Amino acid sequence: MSEKDFDSARSRIAELTSEIETHQQRYYELDAPTVSDAEYDGLLRELEGLEQDFPELRSLDSPTQRVGGQAAAGFATVQHAARMLSLDNAFSDEELTAWADRVVRDAGGQVAFLCELKIDGLAINLTYRNGRLVRAATRGDGRTGEDVTANVRALKDIPKTLKGDDVPALVEVRGEIFFPTSGFADLNASLVAAGQRPFANPRNAASGSLRQKDPSITGSRPLRLIVHGIGAHEGFEPPRQSEAYKLLQSWGLPTSLRWKVVDSLDEVREFIAYYAEHRHDVEHDIDGVVIKVDDVAIQGRLGNTSRAPRWAIAYKYPPEEANTKLVDILVNV
Ligand code: NAD
Repeated sequence: MSEKDFDSARSRIAELTSEIETHQQRYYELDAPTVSDAEYDGLLRELEGLEQDFPELRSLDSPTQRVGGQAAAGFATVQHAARMLSLDNAFSDEELTAWADRVVRDAGGQVAFLCELKIDGLAINLTYRNGRLVRAATRGDGRTGEDVTANVRALKDIPKTLKGDDVPALVEVRGEIFFPTSGFADLNASLVAAGQRPFANPRNAASGSLRQKDPSITGSRPLRLIVHGIGAHEGFEPPRQSEAYKLLQSWGLPTSLRWKVVDSLDEVREFIAYYAEHRHDVEHDIDGVVIKVDDVAIQGRLGNTSRAPRWAIAYKYPPEEANTKLVDILVNV
């Protein structure tokens, strides 16, 4: 590579970094994105590509190396007991296969995969002590999130106490708060009628509705929860991700009805193909399928990068034409 290539890569990296950070602020803090997710993913991919070609230009705080977002001013902040991570993406079958090959190689043999839907909502961390909800926080930068406890308490889908006689001393429950697709058009119509700005998509509606100053507004929106993991915990140690889901469900937490443990990559592909066909039969938006190693001991051996677990991947579906158009239309309202 010539010095000219290096210089132009450096200036493009600076440009992309600043552009991506602006979009992250609009998306995570203001709930008002101005580009589609596919366009945003394209910018991030371009940055990743340049950093692969010029590793010496990759900084530790590059958007490719950290969890996007941060706690917005105006909210009290909360330190998560265990970090909340993002997910690496696969945009093609080749990328999915490369990930699975790496997992099998590093695990030292075939593993069971848990397939589930990638819920397009807002990541939430619910802390229960001795079965009582004591704190709810958004992901923020993964270490520090926004305190949304009062707002979450206003939602009836979220249990304030866990049930059962095996409720643990501590559990951070990780999940997604979503706005059901069926109520989205009505919400936007009522916002427009009240002279307010509509949301670009149900994901932004979930985030904007949860992150209100007035918890009674949050409580008036039909927000729902699906849980998909645990963070810090004491007093129980599920050996499999799927067993953690069964426990969470037994304590009264809403888990997905649509997960499946499979033994081969071909079955993972079948799950992906099924929901590519049936994504609109689901009550929330999905932007892909998440594939996780089911065995928790193997998850621990594979570990994490600075922004995502190595034992999971999000297979992203191609963007839908309608969503891109919706963003274009709403941004111009
Ligand atoms: P991500 O949304 O791709 O993946 C990580 C998140 O997925 C986790 O934090 C988790 O909460 C969530 N998730 C949903 N279902 C899950 C499941 N079943 N199991 C585990 N986790 C699950 O990553 P990200 O870093 O939060 O955000 C990137 C996404 O946000 C991309 O889709 C990107 O396009 C979009 N984005 C868009 C803009 C924009 O301007 N349009 C800006 C920033 C980010």
